[in-house]
Amino acid sequence: MTLNQTHLIVDLLDIKENAESLKVYTSGKLIAVVKADAYGHGVIPVANTLTSVVDMFAVATVEEAIELRQADISKPILILYTPMPEYAEDILLHDLTPAIDNWDLAIRLNDLSEKGDIITTQDGKIRVHVDVNTGMNRSGVCYTKAGELIERLRTLPNIEVEGIFTHFATAHEEDKSFAHVQLNRFHPLLTVKPRIPIVHTANSAATLEIPESRFNALRPGLSLYGIYPGQKRALPLHPALTWKTHVHWIDEIEAGEGVSYGLEYKAPHRIRIAGLRVGFGDGYPRALSGIGEVLIDGKRRSILGRICMDSMVVKLEESDYVRIGSEVVLLGKQGEEEISIEALAEKANTIPYEILTRIGKRVQRIYKP
Ligand SMILES: *Cc1c(COP(=O)(O)O)cnc(C)c1O
Repeated sequence: MTLNQTHLIVDLLDIKENAESLKVYTSGKLIAVVKADAYGHGVIPVANTLTSVVDMFAVATVEEAIELRQADISKPILILYTPMPEYAEDILLHDLTPAIDNWDLAIRLNDLSEKGDIITTQDGKIRVHVDVNTGMNRSGVCYTKAGELIERLRTLPNIEVEGIFTHFATAHEEDKSFAHVQLNRFHPLLTVKPRIPIVHTANSAATLEIPESRFNALRPGLSLYGIYPGQKRALPLHPALTWKTHVHWIDEIEAGEGVSYGLEYKAPHRIRIAGLRVGFGDGYPRALSGIGEVLIDGKRRSILGRICMDSMVVKLEESDYVRIGSEVVLLGKQGEEEISIEALAEKANTIPYEILTRIGKRVQRIYKP
């Protein structure tokens, strides 16, 4: 039963169309970032939808990659952060493509493969992508040392350096100057011989706004889901997600009565209020206590007082046509109104990425078509 539950409606066709739109920016490959359960959208349905459109998937951990393999996703899967060497066997078994920023995993992969116990790829090679740190300073081999690492990796007979990449720290900002500093640090690595086949630096923001970052592969996440990382709207994208719940309680309270924990909100006069069955336990940001809005009957209605773990209270107006079971939209469109995730995140003093990845397990995902 969905009526009584807080649920997400995920439009898979929107995600497919967003991916197809993003392809105008490349004549090369599209690497779809589906880490963190496809940014909360549900990785298996999303990957099944995208598998015919994209060339490769990217995730953050080996476990996330294995989840895709177990769902019969056969496209190459890039692991964006160099796994611990202990993961070598899993990487071979599941034919995964790890990022590499140090020697330890590479030698372990090479040696395991040498033994010939686990044969995965047709040519017996393990493909890796070298993660280069050009100034984000959170992972990767330093750009001044990357050439040397590539040379060493190429001495390993079972390892193929298939890709090279870096990640931008400020591509989403208006000022692109540091992104260009990073590109300049990255450039010399593209002349190493023989050439590394796949070169990728562009996250969503760079894909949309920095043409020089596109090389022969793109690596977007957020924009696949129809969300813009920066202020610009370079391309029409469609947000794939609508977050809904329903009115589960309605009452009137007298002037001076308080609402929710701490009774922070006090009714200035007799008002009508509605209880919703969604709270921060579902991932709805508690920071929106007293300041957030939801859509009911096609209108914006204010959240009153503190958001609880499983519920919150909103103010109704006299004219509202509302009854128990009425649809409430937390994120997305209802009638003419829309609550965009960009606006919601800004109000909650965070970013869309955090809102999406915190939407809880108990929020049921419903997929269309
Ligand atoms: C998450 C991530 C991406 C995708 O970034 P978006 O801003 O969601 O497009 C790309 N590359 C790396 C290394 C990442 O960690």
